[in-house]
Parts: sequence; structure tokens; C-alpha cells
Amino acid sequence: MFCRIVAGEIPATIVKRTDGALAFKDLSPQAPTHLLVIPTTHVGSLNDAKDGKMLGDLLSFAREVAREAGIATKGYRVVLNTNPDGGQTVFHLHLHVLGGRAMQWPPG
Ligand code: 5GP
Repeated sequence: MFCRIVAGEIPATIVKRTDGALAFKDLSPQAPTHLLVIPTTHVGSLNDAKDGKMLGDLLSFAREVAREAGIATKGYRVVLNTNPDGGQTVFHLHLHVLGGRAMQWPPG
């Protein structure tokens, strides 16, 4: 499904794009700022990710997106759910970037 957002086939509020990554607003935000960061090529989950550089670039991109969203100084959370027990519901690798409020721990 997120491949269709990359292709522009379904609408999304895109906040930043590079050749390899895309950041857009989550449809069902769980915090005042809730962005999703995805690779533009299809990778199903963290278990399927073979390219360590892509993973590092994705994390750097998430950090940049958090800074640009104005949540870096106060703090934010990056979440990567993997497979059903991890809470993954969309099988295109994505990082959640959450901020704008204090987060709870444990995450549930
Ligand atoms: P997961 O549960 O796989 O870690 O996260 C999937 C996330 O994608 C959820 O937070 C959900 O709200 C979001 N989501 C699902 N479908 C869409 C969509 O079509 N557009 C956007 N922007 N977000 C979506």
C-alpha cells in the first residue's frame, strides 16, 4: 500500500522526499506529530531489509524530519514495528516518528 503512496496513486500529506525515502503524515495520528518514514523501494519488514546503508540512511532521514518538524529538542520517539507480535499492520518497512507530547514507557 505504501508503494502506492510513493507512486502518487493514493493521496498522502508528504512532508519530505529524497531519492530513497519519503516522509508523510500518518492517517491516524497517535501524537501531535506522527510521521511515517519509508524507503521508496519495497521492503516488507525489518526482517527483509538486506541493505544496511538504506537502514542507516532511513534513520538519518527520520532524524532530519524530526528536526524540521520542530520536535527534536524536546524529544521524540522512533518506532519500527516488525511482524504481527511487533504490531506491524502495513508490510512496507516504515519508521514512526512521534512527538509533540511526552511518551509513556513501557509502550504496551
Ligand atoms: P504499523 O501498525 O504497520 O506499524 O503502522 C501502520 C501505520 O500506517 C498506522 O499508524 C496507520 O495509521 C498508517 N496508515 C495505514 N494506512 C495508511 C494510509 O493509507 N495513509 C497513511 N498516511 N497512513 C496509513
